[in-house]
Amino acid sequence: MAKEELIECSSCGEKFPPEEIYYGDEGCPSEGEPICENCLDGDEPIATFYFSGREEEPIFISEYRNDTLNCPDLPFFKVRWISTGGWRGYYEAESDDYEKVHSDCILSFSEDAEELKKFDEAVEKALKELGIPFCKAFCRTSNIFSCGYDLFVEKDSKEKVEGLIKELKEQFRDPYRFYSTALTGKDPKDLDEKDKKFVRGSLFIKLGFSPEQAIKIVNLLDSLKNEGNK
Ligand SMILES: [Zn+2]
Repeated sequence: MAKEELIECSSCGEKFPPEEIYYGDEGCPSEGEPICENCLDGDEPIATFYFSGREEEPIFISEYRNDTLNCPDLPFFKVRWISTGGWRGYYEAESDDYEKVHSDCILSFSEDAEELKKFDEAVEKALKELGIPFCKAFCRTSNIFSCGYDLFVEKDSKEKVEGLIKELKEQFRDPYRFYSTALTGKDPKDLDEKDKKFVRGSLFIKLGFSPEQAIKIVNLLDSLKNEGNK
């Protein structure tokens, strides 16, 4: 009798008899890859899905397991790894039935995350009132402090929902309003000239300029504006 051939686990690299090996589910980053029972036990979710009307019942996709396969009444989702260089990158969810209408990022413990939460609540309320089914996907990234936030709706409702999202984004995801308020503690209408310079300077620093360069740019823009007014 031929000796049983061992199969190598794609996660730990150890070899096991075929009956102790499982294979990555369809739609997983490691689809079709062999994995041992031990590694499969430790296979943590890389994406968490919340479907409208079933908020209490999160659906998970891990490197090797895809829960959306086990829920025939829910659309099938897949997740893949998008590399942004070296070990850095993020997981991205996609589906043939549902289409992405908003893509964002949760920066843990930041004020921007609070703002995104308000946006999320507003979107959820609006879609529920309109009776439009949706799905929220939270995907891991290589940065433990950031997590992807993606909103999906059925393909047919994509266009109208995009219009709605645009409105809500203007209300809740205005980068200048948010940023200036976070920096100065004032509403935009209460900003004086000095505040405005400060906010603009900070925005240039955020873009990658040094503080000295940012001051130069703000002063330059100011002098150009004054010349234009002459
Ligand atoms: Zn293993």
